[in-house]
Amino acid sequence: MLQLDKVSVNYGSFRALDNVSIHAKQGELVVLLGANGAGKSSIFLTISGLNKAASGSIKFGGKELVGMKPSQIVHDGVVHCPEGRKLFPGMSVMKNLMLGAYVHRKDKEGVQRTLEEVFELFPILREKRDVNAGALSGGQQQMVAIGRALMGRPKALLLDEPSLGLAPLVVKQMFEVIEKINRAGTTVLLAEQNAFAALKIASRAYVIENGHIVMEGTRDELLNNEQVRKAYIGA
Ligand code: ATP
Repeated sequence: MLQLDKVSVNYGSFRALDNVSIHAKQGELVVLLGANGAGKSSIFLTISGLNKAASGSIKFGGKELVGMKPSQIVHDGVVHCPEGRKLFPGMSVMKNLMLGAYVHRKDKEGVQRTLEEVFELFPILREKRDVNAGALSGGQQQMVAIGRALMGRPKALLLDEPSLGLAPLVVKQMFEVIEKINRAGTTVLLAEQNAFAALKIASRAYVIENGHIVMEGTRDELLNNEQVRKAYIGA
């Protein structure tokens, strides 16, 4: 269980997150909906220890993450796949993937097993393993980004805008893969502009506006909510 309790984050004098309380139970796929700048990435950066919370608590499996080093948070099973992929374009697919396994580097056999799992999920990455990440299509680069996160063996995977900038058919495949990862037992926290597709595979969702959680509900509650439909689904 991942639980944020009254988490606030400031950038200088600007309060980006104000008393945010959200949770994801083990095995859930929880969606964060919100416009650009609402605070979704700030939530992920704070969970993964890259942003400092001004106040509040973030617990995973009962353990407090606030104050822990980012590498320790990955080691404990919470792995962040950032918005914009953040790959190393001049490095091969293989090297990018292996960076995700850094915290497990002493467990060579385990890393090899996880790599096989990633290649099973994304067969194209096996073919392109020696190609520089920068030479791949947008969809393939997103696969590398998700694959790299999976190399960290997440119990909880934080996915920030995985469908951003991808062609519709590729977006559809991306959501199928996310659903598959979740069905295999990984808890997923997913921030998406593509609200309809995200809600369809969600257990529950939150809506964030200007750093505040303004709504929370099950997939069906949010899909049927008129405000949500107007603001995020365009129907
Ligand atoms: P997007 O999808 O556009 O990234 P978001 O919902 O993820 O949007 P955040 O990136 O979390 O939003 O940003 C929340 C607010 O904090 C925005 O107003 C943004 O401009 C501001 N912000 C984010 N990072 C910083 C920073 N390093 N310094 C100052 N302000 C920041």
